[in-house]
Amino acid sequence: MIKWVYSFGADQNEGSTGMRNLLGGKGANLAEMASIGLPVPPGFTITTEVCTAFYDNQQRYPDDLTAQVNDALARVERAVGLRFGDRANPLLVSVRSGARVSMPGMMDTVLNLGLNDDTVEGLAAAAGDPRFAWDSYRRFIQMYGSVVLDVDHHLFEEVIDQIKLETGAIEDTSLSADDWRHVVAEYKALVAEKTGKPFPADPHEQLWGAIGAVFGSWENQRAITYRRLHDIPAAWGTAVNVQAMVFGNMGENCATGVCFTRDPSTGENMFYGEYLVNAQGEDVVAGIRTPQPLSKSVAKPDEIPLETAMPAAYAQLLAVRETLEQHYKDMQDIEFTVQSNKLYMLQTRNGKRTAAASLRMAVEMANDGLIDRAEAVRRVNPSSLDQLLHPMLDPAVPRTALARGLPASPGAATGTVVFSADEAESRAAKGEAVILVRIETSPEDIHGMHAARGILTTRGGMTSHAAVVARGMGRPCVAGAGEIRVDYMAQTLSTGGHTIQVGEVITLDGATGEVFAGSVPMIEPALSGDFGTLMEWADGCRRMGVRANADTPMDAETARKFGAEGIGLCRTEHMFFDPERISAVRQMIMAPDERGRRDALALLLPFQREDFRRLFTIMAPLPVTIRLLDPPLHEFLPHADSELAEIAQALGTDMETLHRRMAELAEANPMLGHRGCRLAITFPEIYETQTRAIIEAAVIVRRDNIDVRPEIMIPLVGAAAELARLRDLVVRTADAVLKEAAATIPYTVGTMIELPRACVTADKIAAHADFFSFGTNDLTQTTLGLSRDDAAKFLGEYVRLGIYPSDPFVTLDQEGVGALIQQAVRLGRQAKPGLKIGICGEHGGDPSSVGFCHTQGFDYVSCSPFRVPIARLAAAQAVLREIRAKAAAPQPEVAR
Ligand code: PEP
Ligand code: MG
Repeated sequence: MIKWVYSFGADQNEGSTGMRNLLGGKGANLAEMASIGLPVPPGFTITTEVCTAFYDNQQRYPDDLTAQVNDALARVERAVGLRFGDRANPLLVSVRSGARVSMPGMMDTVLNLGLNDDTVEGLAAAAGDPRFAWDSYRRFIQMYGSVVLDVDHHLFEEVIDQIKLETGAIEDTSLSADDWRHVVAEYKALVAEKTGKPFPADPHEQLWGAIGAVFGSWENQRAITYRRLHDIPAAWGTAVNVQAMVFGNMGENCATGVCFTRDPSTGENMFYGEYLVNAQGEDVVAGIRTPQPLSKSVAKPDEIPLETAMPAAYAQLLAVRETLEQHYKDMQDIEFTVQSNKLYMLQTRNGKRTAAASLRMAVEMANDGLIDRAEAVRRVNPSSLDQLLHPMLDPAVPRTALARGLPASPGAATGTVVFSADEAESRAAKGEAVILVRIETSPEDIHGMHAARGILTTRGGMTSHAAVVARGMGRPCVAGAGEIRVDYMAQTLSTGGHTIQVGEVITLDGATGEVFAGSVPMIEPALSGDFGTLMEWADGCRRMGVRANADTPMDAETARKFGAEGIGLCRTEHMFFDPERISAVRQMIMAPDERGRRDALALLLPFQREDFRRLFTIMAPLPVTIRLLDPPLHEFLPHADSELAEIAQALGTDMETLHRRMAELAEANPMLGHRGCRLAITFPEIYETQTRAIIEAAVIVRRDNIDVRPEIMIPLVGAAAELARLRDLVVRTADAVLKEAAATIPYTVGTMIELPRACVTADKIAAHADFFSFGTNDLTQTTLGLSRDDAAKFLGEYVRLGIYPSDPFVTLDQEGVGALIQQAVRLGRQAKPGLKIGICGEHGGDPSSVGFCHTQGFDYVSCSPFRVPIARLAAAQAVLREIRAKAAAPQPEVAR
């Protein structure tokens, strides 16, 4: 018999943290918390395998599920001494979804399940409080009605608003038992009207309805979107947790709250959270009442912290905080309820955090001995470093403050205001930077939050949906800016006499919570402290070098600041586009013969020499790989007649000749045309001049006693004979220059491997190369037969359909391109043991591609300067993964 249901709490813990794939994160951790002695109300988890079986089997449950659920429910009844559906002593339960990773797109929670017109009386009697019982009952119908029966939740709010109007009440708390009884009647009528059926009174029917809704929500649109954005496979499924209710709304000695064991925004080691007296869980997240802080030390004068209001429960919570961090060795995100001054734990999980917090916590936990340094390096997601490397608002620039909310997710963002997630998505798709402004966000808004540069809400706290999701996505967010009024109808936001229309620009500072009119200039971040420490630890782990792709002195300086260990790719064509030089470049291209080309190249030589001199100086003593000219020549030519006329004049020729030459250069498929090393096969003087410029620059720099290590790289080689000829040209030229200068400077000559033919003949190519650098942009283009310039139009659909797991121009296609790389590395090193191998395509800064390069024995990766720290960390993590895998691998048997 397959076990579909696992119990937890009241001394029967069948699950543990390690079982999250089967029990979901929530279920696994409830069992774990209960087993380490924390106060968890008893319950049970229906496994993710039930979800998978449900969808594999035309949405039918396994046969023996009902019996297993009934057994587990009977155990809970015995444990708490109540009975499900019992008139006198009713057991009420909560039903919550819980996948392996938390998924805001899914049905979340139904509380107070088991109430009906009979059991509500039992609850009232047991609690000695009819108001509480009827309030719980209406909450149940409201939650169940909206999340299970799909009745619009605003309709329920309208019923309450109406009764408040009739009774003159302002707060929910001033409504009486009779008022709530009246609301219940209205709610039931509303449900009957909207669904065509009476609200289910049978607790078992309620329970199976809620379980069905959880499994159903796994395939709703929001969950599907969330899974797509976070690479979560549909096959994982969700679990369902059913747990005995505890009540945070049973009086003034009851409360509910959420907290983090450390500050999730900054990582500071302080207890951080919010609670509400006499409330249930959803009240905190919904932002209807203003939550209060936990500790005295952070409370403002008008706030009442839990520490003051319920000292005993606060003390229990502090002890739990300590226990949980020691046990999980990570920052925990906790949900709790206090019922009659007694604390109950409803959830714990590793808390979502900003990149800054993740970094700080990893370093501090390692320094405190909670985790080791390797674990600290493992903890930080390399891609999240992007958040830290991004600009922030320039404090020196004056600005117009509109309002201030909560600093919910750091970083600064400027963009045009939009008021709906759909509009955010559609404008962003056209390249517009947008700020999504909402009163509050909900899981329906995830696609818009993802598309937006920043998010602003006028309601909700640091644990509101907007805040949590934005932090997870790395979007700057200001939440709960209560002074701002948003009018969705008029498409405006107004505050302090300002009115901003849709489409106008605002700027957010997610680190301070400020909102500004217009755009505010930004500055580069300073990298120090914890960042430097973690990078140092990462550098201590990694084997591969990390270089940068840099074409200009500014790029080179940024690269060094971020810890690059050399330049892995300098694309010399970028130097050709400089306005001062373009005319000489065009003369070179248009020249009718070699003589004319050499004349024009002679004009370019001093410019190039100076460029290289500066790069060598900045990077010394690190290696600099300079790639000789790559793009097709016609890319440098103008199209406007006025510009052509200028060239004609400079060359002393006529427009007709020029047009003829243009026609000769035109190609139907230039990416596969006369570019890369093919240019130098036909016009060797181009590479000859570039080599001369490189070596002359090296000689100048060397004279100043600067260590210089030029690496000359030849692009788009497909045949060994191409490289043989061009290597010969480069070496002859370089040696001649060195001889003229009576200098000895070591230099190397290598090639890019960016064509499939080069991969499969890499042994022959290696004979003429000192190094290989994989140009995975072109290699992806040519292996997949996908244009790197045009494929974006349809690649999204390919990824959505799962044809490719991700965009192959972003994350290396290991199955296809990776197989070619593997072959090229094997053949190359077979022919030349110790051949130096690197990568300089965009993938060199993508963490999973960096991981792949490590497994293939690369010597280095090279990426854009801003991605250098990401690559450093990813390269370190690759080593740590390898160590773990080796440790986990079965040891070979020793022969006796
Ligand atoms: C490549 O093709 O991966 C590469 C680095 O060269 P480029 O992008 O300049 O073609
Ligand atoms: Mg290329």
